[in-house]
Amino acid sequence: MHQHHRALGLAPLSTVPADCVAGAIDIAARHPVQPVTIVRPHAAARAARFFTQKFPGRTMYAVKANPSPELLRTLYDNGVTTYDVASIAEVRLVARTLPQATLCFMHPVKAEEAIAEAYFTHGVRTFSLDSMEELAKIVRGTRGAADLTLCVRLRVSSEHSKLSLASKFGVAPDESRELLLATRQVADALGICFHVGSQAMTPDAYGNAMERVRQAIVGAAVTVDVIDVGGGFPSAYPGMTPPPLERYFETIHRAFESLPISYSAELWAEPGRALCAEYSSVVVRVERRRGEELYINDGAYGALFDAAHIGWRYPVALLREPESNVRDHPFSFWGPTCDDLDHMPGPFPLPADITVGDYVEIGMLGAYGSAMRTAFNGFGSDETVIATDEPMESLYTVVEPTVASNVVKL
Ligand SMILES: *Cc1c(COP(=O)(O)O)cnc(C)c1O
Repeated sequence: MHQHHRALGLAPLSTVPADCVAGAIDIAARHPVQPVTIVRPHAAARAARFFTQKFPGRTMYAVKANPSPELLRTLYDNGVTTYDVASIAEVRLVARTLPQATLCFMHPVKAEEAIAEAYFTHGVRTFSLDSMEELAKIVRGTRGAADLTLCVRLRVSSEHSKLSLASKFGVAPDESRELLLATRQVADALGICFHVGSQAMTPDAYGNAMERVRQAIVGAAVTVDVIDVGGGFPSAYPGMTPPPLERYFETIHRAFESLPISYSAELWAEPGRALCAEYSSVVVRVERRRGEELYINDGAYGALFDAAHIGWRYPVALLREPESNVRDHPFSFWGPTCDDLDHMPGPFPLPADITVGDYVEIGMLGAYGSAMRTAFNGFGSDETVIATDEPMESLYTVVEPTVASNVVKL
């Protein structure tokens, strides 16, 4: 669902020089009229270091989750030097922002012109595909290049994930043999990739997908050089606390080690959400209250697309001093546009005495939040502020003393 890029989404945060505050409460004290995006570069840096140190292979960042140039630079500076890009605009953005980065064009359906520009202008050598038509396009677009890494995308189950990516892309089991053999003929390095769906709540999602990879390799009897387990690594949201990421890494590592592939084969992952969910929050203002419905100044066409369209719940906090000690009630939100769709059911627990003029921090919006913002109906926001406090939730503040550290090596 997030494959569709809105032109607006590609450079929202770079134009404004961000100032710096200790926390969200400092924003509320300024009484901003528009929603304000808070970014926490230290949280993204920590996530990047976690992945680059603990994932037992190469971590690339899936740019669509949040294409902010500042975030891209933060991830790069903390060891993530490879980027999963899905459109020519993302290719250009990352090439311009991080000239030294390696780009992998992992959308299985691309324009031939995009393939050609990526290859000849931006040095992209890795592409994914899930059909013979796409293979033909890649061959034409690169004029039969001999230095390609081509990753065949397999269709795998999304049953363990909150957001399915199973119906749109991926070659079906009974067609993978033909495609793998044809791709092997053309590719310098042959990869297999998949995506288990976003916010995968159990490591088994990857274990099961790796079993599909095994069957495809055995069925086609091809030499495979890259296994790319895609994205889907979870973050923490209300009502969705995933197991530690180390467990995911262990499951993947174990499955990878037992695949019939060459000793030198590489393991890759393409996390989007897990690298950037903690990166940003939005501070909104309550413009009206109707019972337990709050009319706020951001919504479905702003940073709250997933909250509206798939009922995603985000952590919320009332920003008021002195703090309210009234007990929480479950609230729903209406966004600012004139549209009934602009509704976020929540529930969002906030103190029962919340009122017009109060400010609320909505957290964990770094992934698929600020990236989705539009200016529909004249509502938008371009104010961004850096905060140095902790995000509302984090998978990375507590270091798990158990498992993984003795298994996972780079
Ligand atoms: C969306 C996407 C990702 C990132 O997924 P997350 O669930 O955010 O980790 C990675 N790879 C591909 C091909 C994608 O489409």
